[in-house]
Amino acid sequence: MRIGFHIPLSGGWRKAVDYACLLGCQTMQVFSHNPRSWGGFSEGKNVKLLLHAANIKPLIIHSAYIVNLASLKYGEKSRELLLKEREKGKRWGAEFLVFHPGSGDKKTLYQNLEILSQHFSSPPYLTIENTSGGGRRLGKDLREIEEILCLFPYLRFCLDTAHLFQQGYNLASRRGRRHLFRFLGEKIGEEKLAIVHLNDSLTPLSSHFDRHWHIGRGKIGERGMQEMLREFSRRDIAVIMETPGIGSEMDRINMQKARALCRAPHSTVTDLARFLGLSTSQPLFNAV
Ligand SMILES: [Zn+2]
Ligand SMILES: [Zn+2]
Repeated sequence: MRIGFHIPLSGGWRKAVDYACLLGCQTMQVFSHNPRSWGGFSEGKNVKLLLHAANIKPLIIHSAYIVNLASLKYGEKSRELLLKEREKGKRWGAEFLVFHPGSGDKKTLYQNLEILSQHFSSPPYLTIENTSGGGRRLGKDLREIEEILCLFPYLRFCLDTAHLFQQGYNLASRRGRRHLFRFLGEKIGEEKLAIVHLNDSLTPLSSHFDRHWHIGRGKIGERGMQEMLREFSRRDIAVIMETPGIGSEMDRINMQKARALCRAPHSTVTDLARFLGLSTSQPLFNAV
């Protein structure tokens, strides 16, 4: 597991990488341009070199919020934007391009994903993120994600813990977490999970209202975050925090918290049972 933050590029690439280093990031995520507009791309020279020198990898690009591949009206425009972001990503050496499946019509989403398939056989890999649901938003249910990943094997998966909780998966309970990891292992496939957006949730279970919160201080809570981090830490994935107030003192605190939760001793019944060789629960992930 490599851990990092979503870092703004507003001050330029050098500043962003310096800040990532200051926080101890091993990976980072950026927008390639203003996420609420169709244009205005960020520029950057020697980005690959900067990242290499800072030992930051993988680089992840989060696509614009306005991308909506499920929309009849904006589907084509969204595809074009994703291809521009892909070009930017290639230049910067990004490994993944994360997108939200959008809201609207599933058939339209599938048609657009089919068209895009020929362009994403090499990095940056197109990576679908689960959403907090509500309205006609797609990609909220893990079964829906499973179906999409099965139909379009070129896609990777980015799991957002806050979105999943807001959609109705109770990650604050051990049962909910066990369900998640079993589903990931058995249905999604471990190799598909490339990224975790590690966010606690300010909003309640099933609220369908997307508000991220600081690690361990939200509705998922410390125990929930700890157990998930422990599972993720065994895997070759990028864990990105998208906590509020990026650039504030809270970044350092969130990073410290995440690292501490990975290290802290744990003595749950499950762990004890495992230790004694009595475990009846599935391994949450097969350890790598
Ligand atoms: Zn996202
Ligand atoms: Zn979110």
